[in-house]
Amino acid sequence: LVRLRSRLARSQNTLGKGLLSLLSRDRLDEDTWEEIEELLLTADVGVTPTQELVERLRTRVKVLGTRSPEELRGLLREELVALIDPELDRTLHVSRHDEETPARPAVLLVVGVNGVGKTTTSGKLARVLVADGHTVVLGAADTFRAAAADQLQTWGERVGARTVRGPEAGDPASVAFDAVKEGIAEGADTVLVDTAGRLHTKTGLMDELGKVKRVVEKHGPVDEVLLVLDATTGQNGLVQAKVFAEVVDITGIVLTKLDGTAKGGIVISVQRQLGVPVKLIGLGEGADDLAPFEPGAFVDALLG
Ligand code: GDP
Repeated sequence: LVRLRSRLARSQNTLGKGLLSLLSRDRLDEDTWEEIEELLLTADVGVTPTQELVERLRTRVKVLGTRSPEELRGLLREELVALIDPELDRTLHVSRHDEETPARPAVLLVVGVNGVGKTTTSGKLARVLVADGHTVVLGAADTFRAAAADQLQTWGERVGARTVRGPEAGDPASVAFDAVKEGIAEGADTVLVDTAGRLHTKTGLMDELGKVKRVVEKHGPVDEVLLVLDATTGQNGLVQAKVFAEVVDITGIVLTKLDGTAKGGIVISVQRQLGVPVKLIGLGEGADDLAPFEPGAFVDALLG
């Protein structure tokens, strides 16, 4: 939690502290409620969730009458956690316990536009999984960006996961297929496929990503499609996310670079917009900077 707090310092300084300070004012008049609304919108909480939160806070603060800082913090914590929906299933399906095909690994596709942190996330996730005793094969299906396969392989060597790669500018779907084949042959329990994220033409992306998924499915169903989004891109990221969601069924969101933004409220809006849970968060460039997303811990870090 200490680490989470320090990594979320930017959001904490503006969003968390800002909310607590506004709510502590002696008089909560219309102007103050507007300021609160403004603050939430600036932090990318999103229009509907912001309105809901302000409504709930107004009602509860009225009932409360006099407010101690502890009471306010508790109330705000409860409402923020509720807004992030703690009931959503955030389990990552990283191995299958499939009686009929025990030799088949779980298959995870990592998707998103270039630069959001797909390769880094794949590496960090492999590290966590290997540390947990999983055997992981990495598939370098981002054949579009020349350095991506090298970068992934370097991660693989660091963390103890084998990397399957193809020829430069080769067919991503064939690399993905080979990676799963390799995973099966090795008896690995998880195959993580890092895909390419060129988004200059939507149809190009549709074709390519759709094909990767279809080809991989020749081995059996895909267990997770993780959409990686850069938290610093705000509403732009949400637009991208919707394009991806049209192409493949996203099962989880990885929100990266939360350490580099004050707009931590994006966690709330992205879940709402896609109806898919945030499962992992990226908190820095280092190997240890990937964490499971837990609404309670996240809100605690935000409120400081
Ligand atoms: P890709 O093109 O989507 O595969 O993106 P990369 O994995 O190459 O990441 C792009 C840049 O973002 C790299 O410099 C990463 O180190 C950086 N990055 C990835 N995740 C995080 C994060 O959670 N926080 C920060 N600060 N940087 C990150």
